[in-house]
Amino acid sequence: MKMETLGSDYYKNKIIEENEQLNQIEQDHICADQMSFLSKGRALVVFVNLTAALILLLFVESYVPFPLSVTWFSFVAISMFFRLALFRMWRNDPDRIQPEKWLSLYTGAMFFTASAWGSSVVFLIASNGQLDPVYFATFLAGVATLAIINGSAHFMATYAFIIPALVPLSVFSILQEHEDSVKLGFILSAFLIFLIYVGHKAHTLVYGTLVLKNKNDLLVSKAMEQARKNKKSYESIQHLLDQMGAGVALFDKNFNLLLWNKSCYQIFNFPNDYLGVGLNIKDILRSYYRSVGKTADRINELIQERMTEYDQGRETGNINIQLNMADGKIFDIKGDFLEDGSTILNFTDVTHRAKANAEALFQMGQKDPLSGLPNRLTFKSQLKKILRISNKKKCKVVITLLNIDNFKFVNDTYSVSVGDSLIIEIATIIQNNLDENEYLAHFGGDEFGIIGQYDLNSKRSLELAEKLSQQIKEPISINGESLNTDVSIGLTQYPEDDRNVNNLLRNADIALHKAKKEGHGKIVIYNNSMHFEIQNRNIMVNEIRESLASSQFILHYQPQIDLKTRQISGVEALMRWRHPDKGWISPAEFIPLAELSKQIIPLTEQLLPEACQQAQSWQEQGLPIFPVSVNISPLHFKEKSFVPLVRKCLEEANLEPERLDLEITEGIIMDRADESISTLKELYDLGVKLSIDDFGTGYSSLTYLRSLPVHNLKIDQSFIHDMLAETDSRSVIAAIIQLGHSFDLKIIAEGVEKLEELELLAEMKCDCAQGYHIGRPMPPDKLTQWIKEHL
Ligand code: C2E
Ligand code: CA
Ligand code: CA
Repeated sequence: MKMETLGSDYYKNKIIEENEQLNQIEQDHICADQMSFLSKGRALVVFVNLTAALILLLFVESYVPFPLSVTWFSFVAISMFFRLALFRMWRNDPDRIQPEKWLSLYTGAMFFTASAWGSSVVFLIASNGQLDPVYFATFLAGVATLAIINGSAHFMATYAFIIPALVPLSVFSILQEHEDSVKLGFILSAFLIFLIYVGHKAHTLVYGTLVLKNKNDLLVSKAMEQARKNKKSYESIQHLLDQMGAGVALFDKNFNLLLWNKSCYQIFNFPNDYLGVGLNIKDILRSYYRSVGKTADRINELIQERMTEYDQGRETGNINIQLNMADGKIFDIKGDFLEDGSTILNFTDVTHRAKANAEALFQMGQKDPLSGLPNRLTFKSQLKKILRISNKKKCKVVITLLNIDNFKFVNDTYSVSVGDSLIIEIATIIQNNLDENEYLAHFGGDEFGIIGQYDLNSKRSLELAEKLSQQIKEPISINGESLNTDVSIGLTQYPEDDRNVNNLLRNADIALHKAKKEGHGKIVIYNNSMHFEIQNRNIMVNEIRESLASSQFILHYQPQIDLKTRQISGVEALMRWRHPDKGWISPAEFIPLAELSKQIIPLTEQLLPEACQQAQSWQEQGLPIFPVSVNISPLHFKEKSFVPLVRKCLEEANLEPERLDLEITEGIIMDRADESISTLKELYDLGVKLSIDDFGTGYSSLTYLRSLPVHNLKIDQSFIHDMLAETDSRSVIAAIIQLGHSFDLKIIAEGVEKLEELELLAEMKCDCAQGYHIGRPMPPDKLTQWIKEHL
């Protein structure tokens, strides 16, 4: 049903509706289409009509009078030739007659043809008294076919044919007295109505098709017109783009070229007809790279790089890259992605700007931003130059490195700006002492380098070092503050110590480090044995790394006693390295290196679980309950992974947190870094004990300690060693004990080697003691034995 509605009424209404909208021009077009439709096969139609008429006349020759035959045939022929004339006229000069008028004339011609055929039946019957059934059937089929084929394009033409062809016979039959004839008349009338209906349907369809075709043609012509207009505006856009200095190219979403301007040819040096619509960006890039002589592999690599940049650009919404051309030009490529995925690329020549920037950057890169002095990089290139000359002249060169002692302390205690001013002051002092044979550079931070073109044995080199050391030692006044600083100095000489720039700098650095190690304000001259020292250190760092997996690192435990009860109060776990070739290596030797190379972290991760398990094991053996202390490196303490590690070790050993004591140094606390404080708090909340190790050697103030969540203070061994001989040490120890107690801290004395020390500490109300006098660090089973013996 629905289909039918759509197929007939809907369609019809739509056509009518659209028909109404057609303007006169469109109407004329449709008429013209109707005419051409009607004219299709006209020659055949004329031929068939005339032949059929002649055959009919041959059949009826015996009983139809000749004059009647001739008249009838002439009638058919005239109507046919009239139609042919109409076609000819329209073909030769379409403007001579209005299409509507033509259609009316054609309808008339159709009427005459049909009348001729319609009357033929009547006059046949009239002459013969009856109708030949063959003729009758052929006649009906002919009328139906011709009506539909000839007339369907024009509404009136259909009826003008069917009605005159059939009506005479129908009327004639109905008027007969014979019953069969009357029946035939009615059947013919029904057929006539049916044929009118079919003809109408055929017309509606054909006409509808013509209307649609016309609409289509109209749209196409409008589109063509628009395209012509667009072409004009496209041409003006193209003109505008070509005027631009920058290169512009528009690509579709697949990076096929849509639009470009003249500058693109100049930028890429393409021949003038190279670029074309649809050319892919990869092909464009390939042509360019090939033209500048890149190899196929390199071309693929470069294209890949560019495409990655574009893809990244698509993600962020825009492209902003720099293209260095083979001719030395530099282009900024800016790209915008449009909503439909197409891309506009903009090439701007920034060669001058980029070169100016690079120059400025180069200038900046040569100098230290704070002091304005040449930086380390410039120092090295200058040294290279001087060495080349000195090599020719067979001259010697001295390299001096200076490092300000305690600079970090100044920065931390005062402020960074005071630190900066100090650097500038010191730079000026050094500069003022130099002569024309000397070249000064500021390596950044608190380090300076001097190249001196003379012999190390000449008076000048050491004289300068000492002069600088003396002058820098003098208080320097900054912002009203009087600062006391020292400078450590390391020296090395070309060509004796080395001939290579990097090696010479490394030597000077080794000497400087040695000077620093020896204390403030020292001057050290490099010698080859120092290098071996460094080499041995490097070997050891590698060895630590390699032996991590093996069980060369173990823990020994040193007992601590309560000075009141003299019972065990805790043990300190101390790392030991059992080297397969070198035997026992002291922690004092390898711990600093393990810290330097960060190996201390995996080492602690390996040994902390062991210490926890050992503590739990002693507890399970029914021994008195005491905590196990483990030393923690500041480096490890600052790691995010540290607290989770502690938690995991406690859980895995099933150890109560207060049985674990973590020994940290003052440095961790004095950093005042927020992370360190929050780690301390987390550990405190976890329930583990916290001790400050080597107390008294750093800068920490006892008052500051009060605000921190720690439990124990371990007085540094140096005070204990001196306590019997020096009253000063004794007073320091007494002060620490007194103040510590007022903050609820437990005080542990380290390095107790003598009974007198132990007794004196007990008198001073020190809580606990640890040292060789009580017990040396020992393997766990030995300690178990020790505890059992001392119970
Ligand atoms: P420390 O934490 O101050 O450990 C105490 C050091 O003093 C130990 O040296 C110990 O053997 C030694 N000692 C104990 N009693 C006496 C005494 O009466 N007289 C003298 N002269 N020395 C005594 P050790 O074992 O050589 O350790 C040296 C340093 O290495 C330790 O100093 C500690 O800072 C570090 N260290 C040791 N084990 C570890 C560890 O597992 N982790 C970390 N991060 N550092 C560790
Ligand atoms: Ca310790
Ligand atoms: Ca200590």
